[in-house]
Amino acid sequence: MHFWISDFVNLFYPETCIGCEHSLQNGEKMLCVSCRSQLPVAYQDLRDNDKMMELFYARVPLENVTSLLYYEKIGTVQHMIHQLKYQKQEEIGTFLGVWMAAYMAADTRFDDVDLVIPVPVHPKRLRERGYNQVTKFSQCIADGLKVRFHESVLVKNQNTKKQAQLNQRQRSNETQQTYQITEEIEPGQHILLVDDVVTTGTTLTLCARELLKIPHTRISIATMGISV
Ligand SMILES: [Zn+2]
Repeated sequence: MHFWISDFVNLFYPETCIGCEHSLQNGEKMLCVSCRSQLPVAYQDLRDNDKMMELFYARVPLENVTSLLYYEKIGTVQHMIHQLKYQKQEEIGTFLGVWMAAYMAADTRFDDVDLVIPVPVHPKRLRERGYNQVTKFSQCIADGLKVRFHESVLVKNQNTKKQAQLNQRQRSNETQQTYQITEEIEPGQHILLVDDVVTTGTTLTLCARELLKIPHTRISIATMGISV
């Protein structure tokens, strides 16, 4: 009987599916085949309708918007994003980013994107968490589109309570958060702004408005999930 090193390691450090907690088989990453196949993928749907764009009508002019998954209050997608944000599972961002990049690189709507910028988290939250949960996801998309990634263009000025502690009215209060440009950005670029989950669209609207202060800038948006 011959054991491969990886089998041996697995005996002590089982890698389990983030959805169902069963052991992952060879070739499976993060999710087992079954959980992955059941994820509510939104990308193609959103390409064929205006559901996501409607969030931004009359608020901010955008080129294109897209999201990878439908986000529900319970279920695997919610669990993954929660693990990513609060349980130091930063690699979930990479997993979703590689997947998203494959869609976007094959989508002509994003052919002329020049630059990818993640929505920032407040410096205090960044220190607590150790990373911006959108960074890996954004980097993967920038790699897939073969364009630049700029992490520190925008800064968030005012700390807000955790989203979970806020009610709907508070979440949609646009005065609670402000974003500012901190780096000089060339005019005339098509910027892809990236966030984790879009719910009311307020955060992305505020960030996009700030970026639109740069002359002749166009903005598109990509997120991991769209709240349903
Ligand atoms: Zn599973």
